Amino acid sequence: MSIQAQIINLLKDLQKKDGLAYIFISHDLSVVEHISDEVGVMYLGSMMEYAKTKDIFERPLHPYTEALFSAVPVPDPDYKMNRIILKGDIPSPANPPSGCKFHTRCEKCMAICSKEAPVFREYEPGHFVACHLYDEARR
Ligand code: SF4
Repeated sequence: MSIQAQIINLLKDLQKKDGLAYIFISHDLSVVEHISDEVGVMYLGSMMEYAKTKDIFERPLHPYTEALFSAVPVPDPDYKMNRIILKGDIPSPANPPSGCKFHTRCEKCMAICSKEAPVFREYEPGHFVACHLYDEARR
């Protein structure tokens, strides 16, 4: 952990000093929150949600993002975790599900989800999501 912290701090120092931009790929959401200005959440090779870090951590829109973020530990013994456990296994990326790639594991899946792939669109300024829950007609 201390080596990881040193490397993260080195990356941040270099970014500040040399004006660098990084694409940082990780499953460690605490580190992602610490190091990123903007976050994109991917599932089976497709972008599901994209927003500024503060916006996506405070108000995730996509059911997959909600499930991911519900597992982030909170350093407060009184905080009640409301963890969303995903059902099933990750399908093969070589043969992804029809429609929304996440529909086989989504607890909010609707009839349209297995038939039509949702469009990745801007739901709020700078906050993009690919999910039929946010289709224009359903608002
Ligand atoms: S499009 Fe449907 S299946 Fe996909 S994440 Fe949204 S609600 Fe769930």
